[in-house]
Amino acid sequence: MAEFSLTLNDDQQQIQDWVHTFAAEVIRPAAHEWDEREEFPWPIVQEAAKIGLYGFEFMLNAIGDKSGLTLPVAIEELFWGDAGIGMAIMGSGLAAAGISGNGTPEQIMEWVPQCYGTADDVRLGAFCVSEPDAGSDVSSLRTRAVYDEANDEWVINGTKAWITNGGIANIHVVVAAVDPSLKGRGQASFVVPPGTKGLSMGQKYAKHGIKASHTSEVVLDDVRIPGRCLLGGKEKLDAKLARAKEAGHSGGKQPAMATFEATRPAVGAQAIGIARAAYEYSLEYAKERVAFGKPIIMNQSIAFKLANMITEIDASRLLIWRAAWLARNGGYKNGEGSMSKYKASEVAVWVTQEAIQILGGNGYTREYPVERWHRDAKIHTIFEGTSEIQQLVIARAISGLRIE
Ligand SMILES: Cc1cc2nc3c(=O)[nH]c(=O)nc-3n(C[C@H](O)[C@H](O)[C@H](O)COP(=O)(O)OP(=O)(O)OC[C@H]3O[C@@H](n4cnc5c(N)ncnc54)[C@H](O)[C@@H]3O)c2cc1C
Repeated sequence: MAEFSLTLNDDQQQIQDWVHTFAAEVIRPAAHEWDEREEFPWPIVQEAAKIGLYGFEFMLNAIGDKSGLTLPVAIEELFWGDAGIGMAIMGSGLAAAGISGNGTPEQIMEWVPQCYGTADDVRLGAFCVSEPDAGSDVSSLRTRAVYDEANDEWVINGTKAWITNGGIANIHVVVAAVDPSLKGRGQASFVVPPGTKGLSMGQKYAKHGIKASHTSEVVLDDVRIPGRCLLGGKEKLDAKLARAKEAGHSGGKQPAMATFEATRPAVGAQAIGIARAAYEYSLEYAKERVAFGKPIIMNQSIAFKLANMITEIDASRLLIWRAAWLARNGGYKNGEGSMSKYKASEVAVWVTQEAIQILGGNGYTREYPVERWHRDAKIHTIFEGTSEIQQLVIARAISGLRIE
């Protein structure tokens, strides 16, 4: 078990500085342009791949850190640069986490590198769970996977909604119902390899924020994949289904939920990256902007806003680091992963709103970045479990009751 420490070790500090430099020199200057263009920022992701920030090796190093802190530290800096571009760089990580969380070691080695490609040939991954009628309620997926025993193939049909990198990814990890009567316990995760017939992109969504990140529907029309693409393998799935049938709906974890639990501190780190950007910017602005003959920060109402902003950001980071450490060292007991994501995302929305207030009229225009940060922050209270769902997870964890 690693010691919990608030002092970053040399490696972590180096990674923090390295990501910060890339965020400051490459990402931040490009943020406005890609937000306006609302397109996937290929040149920036390629540059990130060239320096080794986007790629399998980087994720392997970050995940290899036993304290668990390297990943949230790196992500905070990345999203400090820009959340849309940050998401374009991190989006494949969710597919990689879906494979790592549910796959065999062989499957992990085969498919996770393909979610990233190489510096010269960048590839993407997408993790496809949500559906038009099943977002928070992931137990009600309608996408069906049926086993064709004669050909040892799975046949998948359904439509996935709001999928990051959906349709432009090379590897799609799809969660589907094998036995719908077992709800979440009857689901399994599948890898749909590059170029598989029947998988196509539906509508691309026009979004409120993180516009540089690509979000689309994914349509699965008689998608046939080899048996070996079932993550975890058939034997394990059959045993799980048998156990679930015996236990009713209460036994075992849903594959999608397991992935989301593991990634929650990372999502919290994204949110405080945005919040810190807005805090730093509005602090400098408040020192410069003069009204009634003095800098606006000389008014307690403005100075106290800034004091509260940094207090909330630091409190959120402590929750994130605790959760990231616990995830690697003993596990969550009271929904600490959810606490960290819930707190950080609500704080990011509030901090960025306060930043707009501090910038006044300028804050409301696209000439200044704070309105973009506010739009970007909002997604964090929605995806990977809404704030209400995080509260539900915490409430169930602390009570041991199945609160509805
Ligand atoms: C930009 C973006 C990127 C995304 N990327 C991905 C991705 O890569 N992969 C993927 O699978 N999904 C992705 N999603 C989907 C996202 O995870 C869902 O939108 C989210 O889980 C919420 O589901 P929903 O939209 O169906 O909302 P709903 O479930 O319909 O919820 C609507 C409201 O009701 C509340 N609510 C619902 N149930 C309860 C309850 N039991 N108790 C209290 N309140 C409740 C919710 O909190 C929310 O406020 C993405 C979404 C967006 C917008």
